[in-house]
Amino acid sequence: MWPIVFRRESRAGGRVYYEEKEAMQIRDIMRKDVVTVTAQDSVAKAAKQMQQANVGCIVVTNSGSVRGILTDRDIAVSCLGEGHNALQCQVGNHMSNPVITATPTMDVLEATHIMVERKVKRLPVVEGNQLVGLVSFSDVAQAMERPMHDLLLGMGAARRTAARA
Ligand SMILES: [Zn+2]
Repeated sequence: MWPIVFRRESRAGGRVYYEEKEAMQIRDIMRKDVVTVTAQDSVAKAAKQMQQANVGCIVVTNSGSVRGILTDRDIAVSCLGEGHNALQCQVGNHMSNPVITATPTMDVLEATHIMVERKVKRLPVVEGNQLVGLVSFSDVAQAMERPMHDLLLGMGAARRTAARA
């Protein structure tokens, strides 16, 4: 992984400050309010919680430790699509397991690399065997947008300076 410097903008007293930071970490961008169920909960309960939280996946935990992940696609295709009764069918029948996880101190680029390589869109974030957050590919893309924008602006400025010289 190559070192990238991210700039974080903060405003105080009418001035703009840039805090330079080497590599953004997962804890900077992860969502902390993760929706969870247990493997013994019904698929219908999981679906209802996902709908209420307006999320496409739910993390399956047991006393805070990650047991699996269930997506809206798992529910639609493998449970309902197979004609199961979602009120009686358990989450454990359809969750993906084992789950690929990230840690809070993991570099955002490293997490992106894992998602691309393992073809997953979300990584539960685990610290000391406990679920502490969730990061999705779109969270990562959004976080990268600003530094990328700054980088491209910087390159454009350098090119203009070079053209004048
Ligand atoms: Zn089912």
